[in-house]
Amino acid sequence: MARTITLIPGDGIGPEVTEATLRVLQAAGAELEWDRHIAGIEAFEKTGQPLPDELLDSIRMHAVALKGPVTTPVGKGFRSVNVQIRKALELFANLRPVESVPGVPARFENVDLVVVRENTEGLYSGIEHEVVPGVVESLKIITEKASTRVAKFAFDYARKNGRKRITAVHKANIMKLADGLFLDCCRNVAADYPEIEFDDRIVDNMAMQLVMRPDKFDMLLLENLYGDILSDLCAGLVGGLGIVPGANIGESIAVFEAVHGSAPDIAGQNLANPTALIRSAVLMLEHIGLGEEAERVRAALQTRLAEPESRTRDVGGQASTTEFTDAVVRTIERG
Ligand code: ATP
Repeated sequence: MARTITLIPGDGIGPEVTEATLRVLQAAGAELEWDRHIAGIEAFEKTGQPLPDELLDSIRMHAVALKGPVTTPVGKGFRSVNVQIRKALELFANLRPVESVPGVPARFENVDLVVVRENTEGLYSGIEHEVVPGVVESLKIITEKASTRVAKFAFDYARKNGRKRITAVHKANIMKLADGLFLDCCRNVAADYPEIEFDDRIVDNMAMQLVMRPDKFDMLLLENLYGDILSDLCAGLVGGLGIVPGANIGESIAVFEAVHGSAPDIAGQNLANPTALIRSAVLMLEHIGLGEEAERVRAALQTRLAEPESRTRDVGGQASTTEFTDAVVRTIERG
């Protein structure tokens, strides 16, 4: 029986990369039904809610969603729908495998990192207020509970996927209490996984080391803000936001989404690279047990990304979104 997945095409380039992804999944023979929902500005204009209740109910019911990017208004308007979904559904771990893709032009050819970011607290708690005009306070919340559960997630992932080492990233020399607690929780969890090496780095030093020798690292474990920044840096090491997949995972619910935003500068022009969302969908297929279909898509992507003429502009080609998608679909159909 076909599995039903909640689908949020999003806005900006979201609908274009979503359509591309659906075509590829269909070509791969993935038996899926989609429960489509709107979010963000479109939903706000139609329903008064940027994150409609029906959308959250749908994800709770189906336990798995595939999501395109949703624009967050800058400096005003509603709070980020992306952050709200993660908080409402307790999707506490953000997972981003960052791998070099053979043939795709990038600064490095040997990157194989997995970034795990805490998704629910830190400076993203959204607790901000103006103390007096001209002075704003923004609170960073770190809890033992959230730090421990994301650390456990990272170590379990390492164990399941044959990863050898986890590096926790922090600024505990300055934020001795907040980042100190995060680091202590990581250390405590690490003690239960003696087969996995554990060490830590201060975030600024980590940024430098990543751009010099990314091959020296295996998995990174970070609180929210550092994870947001360094995971984009990691995407840049292997060819940019257009190719890196992501997932937000909780106890029983998982939302798969590309790392990139809605890219308004290229929206509606058939220029976007759908690879990041297609690869996020590959993670989704594995998550729901459709390993063969996942492998078909992965292989076809690899073939097409290795050829300059098939690639989109962001990764050194000239192809449009639809031309790239056609090529991937043809490759899958040829078997
Ligand atoms: P957000 O704040 O939502 O993350 P942003 O504007 O910071 O949004 P993106 O929307 O991801 O970031 O865009 C950053 C740059 O990367 C833009 O120049 C955009 O065109 C490019 N980009 C992002 N995603 C893609 C993609 N899938 N294909 C091609 N280019 C992309």
